[in-house]
Amino acid sequence: MEFTRRGVMLVLASPSGAGKSSISRALFEDDPNIALSVSVTTRARRTDEIDGKHYHFIDVPTFKKMREDGELLESAEVHGNFYGTPRSRVEERLSAGRDILFDIDFQGTLQLYEKCRSDMVTIFILPPSIKELRKRLERRAQDSAGTIEKRLKNARIEMEHYGEYDYVLVNEDLEDSTSRVRTILAAARLARPRFIQLDKFVKDLQDQIDSL
Ligand code: GDP
Ligand code: ADP
Ligand code: 5GP
Repeated sequence: MEFTRRGVMLVLASPSGAGKSSISRALFEDDPNIALSVSVTTRARRTDEIDGKHYHFIDVPTFKKMREDGELLESAEVHGNFYGTPRSRVEERLSAGRDILFDIDFQGTLQLYEKCRSDMVTIFILPPSIKELRKRLERRAQDSAGTIEKRLKNARIEMEHYGEYDYVLVNEDLEDSTSRVRTILAAARLARPRFIQLDKFVKDLQDQIDSL
């Protein structure tokens, strides 16, 4: 029996450097049905980032206008920059049965919970240790020393929010973590809220009983 299914909103959150982008990248490589929700941000582009693929890089006045015009499904200030999720692509993908991955912070997750809880599955990613987290941020070599310090300090606050997520995983080994995320996504795709024609299907079964 094939049902038309609604897409999953998969949310990954973590302190900066714990591995959200790496896990997402690995997930996208072998799963064409999930794509990144490309956020708008006012932070500077890193050298390895492509405008329109990783983020839409915009200035503060453009961000504020989008927010005022209701174009953002959620938005937040993180590490001193503004970030937001453009609304248009999300509903389009979900109703087409395609999944969408959100790399957003806890403030954004809470805003999405209010609007779309039944479409969401959320995962909080922890680093194995703070020593390792610092190492990863330094190895990524995309942020200045000052920015890395700010992100490490913010990690304390972000980690207070692990309890708001459906799943928690410690990203020790990248392949193992990616495989866990794939498993969570596979289960989420089968959860009841995905099946948009379930009411009709059950009603049909009941009608069959009635006509016995
Ligand atoms: P543009 O400069 O003529 O393309 O003006 P827009 O208002 O369309 O976009 C301004 C910036 O916001 C661009 O950098 C877009 O890439 C970015 N942007 C990112 N996502 C969205 C979105 O969902 N809607 C709009 N309007 N702009 C987006
Ligand atoms: P985030 O998106 O959460 O800020 P990234 O995915 O950019 O984090 O990861 C930060 C750095 O740590 C990158 O250089 C990445 O290659 C590295 N990294 C991610 N996961 C692991 C892991 N399990 N083991 C070792 N290094 C990792
Ligand atoms: P980075 O600058 O490292 O890409 O992201 C910094 C933080 O901002 C991360 O915690 C990331 O999840 C969060 N973030 C990125 N895009 C969005 C967004 O659209 N909304 C919210 N609320 N947070 C975002």
